[in-house]
Amino acid sequence: MTLDLAEVEAFRRAREDVLARIAAAAARAGRDPAEVTLVAVSKTVAAERVRAAVAAGLTVLGENRVQEGAAKVPEVPGAVWHLLGPVQANKARRAVEAFDVLEAVGSVELAERLDRIAGEVRAGRPLPVLLQVNVAGDPAKSGFDEASVEAALPVLASMANLRLDGLMTIGRLVSTPEEARPTFVALRGLAARLRTLEPRLGRALSMGMSDDYEVAVEEGATIVRVGRALFGERPRPLHSGAEG
Ligand SMILES: *Cc1c(COP(=O)(O)O)cnc(C)c1O
Repeated sequence: MTLDLAEVEAFRRAREDVLARIAAAAARAGRDPAEVTLVAVSKTVAAERVRAAVAAGLTVLGENRVQEGAAKVPEVPGAVWHLLGPVQANKARRAVEAFDVLEAVGSVELAERLDRIAGEVRAGRPLPVLLQVNVAGDPAKSGFDEASVEAALPVLASMANLRLDGLMTIGRLVSTPEEARPTFVALRGLAARLRTLEPRLGRALSMGMSDDYEVAVEEGATIVRVGRALFGERPRPLHSGAEG
């Protein structure tokens, strides 16, 4: 399995461009760009191309479907894997086994299941998770709403096998990056308020994708999830069925 060196070089340039934009956005906000982790979203991208991306330094990868991601993990060594999509109950074990960080924990029921499984498959090494909050109030998006995450926080924070790294949100589909800003501001505000109630909630804020990650960094993102700006446009899905 030899790497396509031209492809590695193209990924290196794409990575540098995105990192430079992150650095500029951080500078505008008076932030240290080292606080921001770039997750390269490799969903639909074949393992061979993803290996070239890793060779170019894109070593934190994101997938939104358990099955696709878990199949790719052993084919792409040397990366840290974030699961970005919802987890169905029957795929929770697979998700815990394959991924390093679960970003889309959106219910107490799922958290309880993950806590139990993590206690079995990675005892003594709490599973890093983010709580997905639907701050945009988008009925098409899963996750906690603001009131339910606040109510659930004490029980979530006491789960011994989960590490609550912070919050994640998926913005509404917008036509300009600026329109996404209120969602990012809302997530940051919510996180600050929740941390006063529950200091065990970590400081991670996963927000921003290819079209709006610079605005997200200006508003405090510590994780940006960038797919198309690194890998190019994805093929259009034939159908939009259940994820996981
Ligand atoms: C696909 C996906 C991304 C990346 O989207 P791009 O527009 O390609 O940058 C980010 N987050 C989640 C949850 C996704 O499913």
